[in-house]
Amino acid sequence: MSVADNIDDVKLRIDKARQDPNGTPAESVRLIAVTKTLTVEKIREAVDYGLRDLGENRVQEIIEKYPRFPEDVRWHLIGHLQTNKVKYIVDKVYMIHSLDSIRLAAEIEKRAAAIDRIIPCLIQVNIADEDTKFGLKIDEVEDFVKEMVHFPHVSVEGLMTIGPHVAEEAPIREVFRKLRQLKNQLEKLPQPTVKMRELSMGMSGDFELAVREGATMVRVGTSIFGARIK
Ligand SMILES: *Cc1c(COP(=O)(O)O)cnc(C)c1O
Repeated sequence: MSVADNIDDVKLRIDKARQDPNGTPAESVRLIAVTKTLTVEKIREAVDYGLRDLGENRVQEIIEKYPRFPEDVRWHLIGHLQTNKVKYIVDKVYMIHSLDSIRLAAEIEKRAAAIDRIIPCLIQVNIADEDTKFGLKIDEVEDFVKEMVHFPHVSVEGLMTIGPHVAEEAPIREVFRKLRQLKNQLEKLPQPTVKMRELSMGMSGDFELAVREGATMVRVGTSIFGARIK
C-alpha cells in the first residue's frame, strides 16, 4: 500500500472509532504524521497528499527537515525536549507536546519572549507509569498548571500521554480515559493562560482506543509510512 492509501485507511479507522456508541469522541481529531527517522522524500508523499501536521521526536531532525518543506507545514515536537535545545526550535515548532518540567517552561518562556512568540504546549503526563522517565505524574499536574501563570509565552493547550505497551485493550483505554478525566478536571481551574482543549494520545497500535476516549490529536507513524528502519 502507498502512503496515500495508508492515510486514507487511518482516516477511515479514526472515523469508525468516532462512531463507536460506547465512546466519548472529541468534536474533531487531528492526524499527526510521525516522521522521525524518515527521509524527506518519504515524508513528502504524506505532505503531497495533504497532511500538514508532522511529528518529530528529535530536535536535530526538525532542524534538518524544516527548511525542506513548505511554510504551512506544522511541526509538532513529540519527544523529550532538553532545556539546552529549546533555542534551536523555538522559531520552528507549531506545538511542543512534551512539556514536563518548570525548568523547561522557564527556558521556553525566555526564548519565546525573545522572538515575541507564544508557543502552544501540551503537558506530558506519565499515566502508564512504565519505566519511562518523562512526563509528570497525575497528581503533580494541577500544581504544575498553576505555576504556568509565570510563563505568559508558554500557552498550555492540553495534555499528552503515551499508552502502555501491553496487548490487552482495557488497560490502554483506562490510561486514555484518565487523561481525559484529568483534562476535564483542569478545565475548571480559573487560569486564564491555560486552555485545556487538546488531548494528544494514540499511536499506530492504539489510536482507535484513544479516539474513543476523546483524543483530539493522534500521533501515527508506522501505520502511515510502514516500519521504521532505524
Ligand atoms: C514514534 C512515536 C509515535 C508514533 O509511533 P508509531 O507506533 O510508529 O505510530 C507517537 N508518539 C511518540 C511520542 C513517538 O515517539
